[in-house]
Amino acid sequence: MVLPLTFYGNPVLREKGAPVESVTPELEDFIGNMFETMEEYRGIGLAAQQVGRAIQLTVIDIRAAENRPSTLEIDGETADPNSLMPLVLINPKVTPLNDPISGAEGCLSFPEIYGDVTRPEKVSVKAEGARGEPIEFVCGGLLARCVQHETDHLHGILFIDRMDRASKTDELREDLEFLQKETKAALE
Ligand code: ZN
Repeated sequence: MVLPLTFYGNPVLREKGAPVESVTPELEDFIGNMFETMEEYRGIGLAAQQVGRAIQLTVIDIRAAENRPSTLEIDGETADPNSLMPLVLINPKVTPLNDPISGAEGCLSFPEIYGDVTRPEKVSVKAEGARGEPIEFVCGGLLARCVQHETDHLHGILFIDRMDRASKTDELREDLEFLQKETKAALE
């Protein structure tokens, strides 16, 4: 089932997600619905807050973004990033491993709004997977960017908060204001 997306201006996007204690059948259904929703809107990542639920859960699938490379290491060995997809991260903890670089980002909660965000290029990730099993990996490139963007969502942090100054044009500010007003009006 495709779930309705939440847009900038919806307070749930600013809520810190509650830790997920266990993967119940209900949560498994919800995870399936999150993947369906992400595919429908052609996203590469979707956080629970973006479908109205403030919990520590995000889904990622970067396979469609072939023009932006990713790297992956598991247990110190290089691995194919696609082998990890589709990826479910529950209660993720992200640690930066190298210097930040700037790169383009968008967000399903901000239709048609894009900007450059500076983030560490490589991170280590500890989380639980789709069945609650512990997972651990190191990733770089687009996957690292995506994991950080989604983990931010789980803490109520949005990509506009971290956007490079050069991307924060007057036009962007106007677009954000418009979107925020439109979202608030729709919630009333
Ligand atoms: Zn987003």
